Amino acid sequence: MAAEHSEHATYWRERGACLRVDPELFFPPGSGTLTHVQIDDAKAVCRRCPVLEQCLGWAMEFGPVEGVWGGTTESERRLMRGRAVQGPGGTATRAA
Ligand code: SF4
Repeated sequence: MAAEHSEHATYWRERGACLRVDPELFFPPGSGTLTHVQIDDAKAVCRRCPVLEQCLGWAMEFGPVEGVWGGTTESERRLMRGRAVQGPGGTATRAA
């Protein structure tokens, strides 16, 4: 059932390490040195998170989403999506 699948698909969020810190940490404003420090601090939380893989998978699948998810920023995930589309060696892949 779609509702059950959806519930199951986001159950990992209840185990996120970010539930124990200020949520604003994961949504750094603008750019600059302080923003980079905040991003690094958010990524440090993600690195010790037991559901990092599920979180990153969700952000990659449902993106673009703002903020740090799964230890990555949206710009990093955008690059990862681009690489996934291009395939190894930077060549574009096509669906068969
Ligand atoms: S990986 Fe980071 S953003 Fe995702 S649930 Fe864990 S702590 Fe939160």
